[in-house]
Amino acid sequence: MNQQTPEELSEQLLTQMQKWWGYPEFRSLQKASMLRVMRDQDSLTVLPTGGGKSLCYQVPAVARPGLAIVVSPLISLMKDQVDALCSLGISAGCINSSQSYEEKREVTQRIRSGQLRLLYISPERLVQSRTLEFLCGCNVSFVAVDEAHCISQWGHQFRPEYRQLSALRDHLPGVSVHGYTATATEQVRADIVSQLGLRDAEILVGPFDRPNLLYRVERRTDALTQIRDVLARHRNESGIIYCISRKNVESFSEKLNALGHRTRPYHAGLSDDQRMRTQEEFAEERIPIIVATVAFGMGIDKSNVRFVIHAGMPGSLENYQQESGRAGRDGLAAECTLLYSPGDAETWRFLTQDPEHPEVSEAAERSLRSMQRYCTGMRCRHAQLVEHFGQDSEHVNCQSCDICLRELEEVDDAEVLARKILSGVYRQGQRFGVAYTAQVLRGSGAKRILENGHQRLSTWGLLKNDSETQVKHWIEQLLSQKFLRQTGEYRCLELTQEGWTLLKQGGDVTLVRERRQEAAESHATKQWEGIDRELFNELRGLRTRLATQKNVPPYVIFSDATLRAVARERPVTPEQLRGITGIGEKKLEQFGAALLYEVDRWNRKLRHD
Ligand code: ADP
Repeated sequence: MNQQTPEELSEQLLTQMQKWWGYPEFRSLQKASMLRVMRDQDSLTVLPTGGGKSLCYQVPAVARPGLAIVVSPLISLMKDQVDALCSLGISAGCINSSQSYEEKREVTQRIRSGQLRLLYISPERLVQSRTLEFLCGCNVSFVAVDEAHCISQWGHQFRPEYRQLSALRDHLPGVSVHGYTATATEQVRADIVSQLGLRDAEILVGPFDRPNLLYRVERRTDALTQIRDVLARHRNESGIIYCISRKNVESFSEKLNALGHRTRPYHAGLSDDQRMRTQEEFAEERIPIIVATVAFGMGIDKSNVRFVIHAGMPGSLENYQQESGRAGRDGLAAECTLLYSPGDAETWRFLTQDPEHPEVSEAAERSLRSMQRYCTGMRCRHAQLVEHFGQDSEHVNCQSCDICLRELEEVDDAEVLARKILSGVYRQGQRFGVAYTAQVLRGSGAKRILENGHQRLSTWGLLKNDSETQVKHWIEQLLSQKFLRQTGEYRCLELTQEGWTLLKQGGDVTLVRERRQEAAESHATKQWEGIDRELFNELRGLRTRLATQKNVPPYVIFSDATLRAVARERPVTPEQLRGITGIGEKKLEQFGAALLYEVDRWNRKLRHD
């Protein structure tokens, strides 16, 4: 066991993190987690996606002598991590089924010569007796099990191969084992500890909240328009749109492409080859938007996903947390919008019902109910999520969810507004749907409206100062409060008895106005303070060129956080560049000159202008 004091070890870890990664300080729990590895004491670290789990084993792997073994479930994940480490100048490699004989031999040689610091490997390959025998003579420093929840059948991504890892202890006695996961309920945590055979393990659970994510739930009224509203706030940025069914994936992707967005569909019905290509295009920033079922996500290490939209309600909060968690891994502001309709629960019930295993259906039903409570609840979304995962929420006002931002503000004169809308429906003869009614109220000169002579109605243009989306939402609100109902094949709007009473005599009604755009913009703009966006875009261009040259995804070269810091500080010397987060020695040596040249060019252009 390491005899150094915790202070000495921390200093050593920090020096390495600064040197290779260019990060000046630990994130929450990283130090404690790394110290366990340094002292050969088993541990399980639970941090949300983007919390910085990888560094918890990568930094000790560099700070300690010997070879660290990292168990990882997916080839794409291994490849990404190895690429990222190599770009930092750290000797890392992987062994998997997609490699040629030569590639495998090269890695084995680097292990034999004691050069390799981290070896990524799948669980099934690691436990093969040949692999274990070989590793026994290789000075293994510790074993890190990434995505450790895959070992538990209570988790949502059970991988039976992970179960074989319990054999490790017999073959590598004295080597500490460390698990890392983002999702872990008490039951899954206990299961990981027992299945991995962890001894006196400390379970380190970090804060589950992701303050950089802006959560919001919208009642789904017109999904395509609602999706486009979100996309309008994220021009040229990367994002994922999740749908429940393959059919929706295909249809949204097509419609969005027809409207000029660049998207690709992704679901289990596509060939492996197609899916891999799509994943690569997304990683390499050639395609900004993926429309997908839940099949998309694991193995996506892309850190600058700026928005995740759920076009339908996910089946559980665990899934929601995982999927929405793919946004903003770089710690910068990102937006997670969920479009919800009460019918979504029915779709899930249909998909998950299993008459032969009623206990499975019951568990799915419980998950659905928690998910529905989240969608309809009027409490801080961050607090609801954090509490669901068993932590106290300290957020009284998080300033990053629709509830706390008061995006849903009550309209002062709701009764007058409601009567305008009801009157509009009545004057049109109760023969038209939501979209048409909203257009008349907004004073549209559309052909159909003119043909019907509805521009002559006294209600035409009464709400011309509000957006069409807003007017549609008010109509929806009147529907859900039963002042209106929809009938017939064309879902025409009609007044109910309550609607008539409200129109003729007045009464109580609540309508809320959405201030979404403003709130989302202010959430993101705070992080852009002092940053020249044009320079940031130039730097992004440089990053793409460098990535193409090196044949790696752009985020492996620099994160968005680093580029933003460069665009804010505008460093002119290598020394100033060294002080920027994410620029370690190797990055400075490889790309420092290119960055300085770009900043200098920019400064000269500014002087010139
Ligand atoms: P996780 O594995 O928990 O999802 P990662 O390890 O991928 O998270 O980290 C998410 C992002 O945060 C990465 O871009 C990583 O380089 C960065 N990061 C991790 N630790 C730090 C730190 N101490 N300071 C700055 N950035 C960090």
